[in-house]
Amino acid sequence: MDKTLLEERKKTLFRQQTSAWHSLSDETKAARDLSEEYKVYLDEGKNERFFIEKAESDARKAGFVPFEEAGELKGGSKIFFTNRKKNLLLAVIGKDGVNKGFSLCASHVDAPRLDVKPNPLNEDGDSSTAYLKTHYYGGVKKYHWVQIPLALTGVVILKDGTVKKVDIGNDPADPVFTIPDILIHLSGKIQADKKMPEIITGEQLNVLLAHQPVDDPELKDGIKLAALEFLNEKYGMTEEDFLSAELEVVPAANARDLGLDRSMILAHGQDDRVCGFANLKALFDLKETPERTCVAFLADKEEVGSRGSTGMDSHFFYHCLSKIAHGVTENYSEILFRDILNNSHALSTDVAAAVDYNFKSVHDMGNAAKMGRGVNINKYTGARGKAGSNDADAEYLAALRQLLDEHNVPWQISELGKVDEGGGGTVAFLLSRYGIHTIDMGTPVMGMHAPLEITSKIDVYATYKACRVFYESFRG
Ligand code: MN
Ligand code: MN
Repeated sequence: MDKTLLEERKKTLFRQQTSAWHSLSDETKAARDLSEEYKVYLDEGKNERFFIEKAESDARKAGFVPFEEAGELKGGSKIFFTNRKKNLLLAVIGKDGVNKGFSLCASHVDAPRLDVKPNPLNEDGDSSTAYLKTHYYGGVKKYHWVQIPLALTGVVILKDGTVKKVDIGNDPADPVFTIPDILIHLSGKIQADKKMPEIITGEQLNVLLAHQPVDDPELKDGIKLAALEFLNEKYGMTEEDFLSAELEVVPAANARDLGLDRSMILAHGQDDRVCGFANLKALFDLKETPERTCVAFLADKEEVGSRGSTGMDSHFFYHCLSKIAHGVTENYSEILFRDILNNSHALSTDVAAAVDYNFKSVHDMGNAAKMGRGVNINKYTGARGKAGSNDADAEYLAALRQLLDEHNVPWQISELGKVDEGGGGTVAFLLSRYGIHTIDMGTPVMGMHAPLEITSKIDVYATYKACRVFYESFRG
């Protein structure tokens, strides 16, 4: 047997089979420290607005300024663009400007949850309750959302434009909300024989809001009125203000360490705030001015197809990059800018489906993401015959694996489940349509899209490290 081949085989086996806790044994403290910072992002960023608010505030602390205030752009300039409080683009201008293209990481900070309807508030006399009607956002298993503690977060914009931030249920001193489920004693006909998506329907996702009526037995809607009175006192809002609100119902649970060894995290919205955090933190932590201009993009609306003005599909992304290119390039032109994009490289940093011991049959185990084996690469996503996928170039994969190996970043490569099992997508195809070399990469998540999702702290760290070496050292 050829010695080099044998060595290569050993390296591959080591990469595929060794826990990242071993391959990063000198950095486990750093990984655990990073996870403490990450948990703060999860707790303060329970919806896309709150996450962007924190990201922007931390960006300012890290020396980033709004593009309009930055003046002349040069190597080392740190700037950001905020889009309607739900989408953020940050950049560190490189020594080479944009001559060799941008190095981009794009993550999304929206997550599946229950949105409050425009006319949500109802009272039910028979159960003596008032409840809020919701409309689920993104891919949820509706039965997950019943009989768990819930919080109400977001904003109400009053008719005069006043913004009221709503956050009830996240502070341990707050009350919480819930959606009642049917008791097992009476659930035989109404639930037990049904298929999973019909066990709880969208129209049953009604959040129990209040119970005590106002002190007037003559009034018919006394409970609803009492709830409105509370909301009016706290936020100055009336019933009609619900229609100019963005209120999201999320689990009333802060991020917690998971496991005896505290090696994992259980929290809401880790798809894809884990990569959003890793990406952002990697950009903040750049010690020296990078060669290329590095860009972190935090998108909204990925879970509903990336449309809307704050989604990856909006022209905001293109517009901001053109402003940067215009600021650092002599003889800027549209054609030149398109060439710059064509020479750019992006990581679509989004999570992967980690194998779990209860449901191994949906994975091809040799091509599945495993928790604790480092950051995951997906050459393609999609469903059936890779439909809807970006499918990255082999050349790009070669450059990327070289980069990760050189910098001791544990990585793995997978498909999203067995070939005909299901599928999904990311923002990758929306980046690559500009000609940007694009590949999917991110943290393995167990129980993705459940109210609380599971990650490994070492994988969160590996994701951060991958983003960081990509920003610092990727040459393409
Ligand atoms: Mn995602
Ligand atoms: Mn998702």
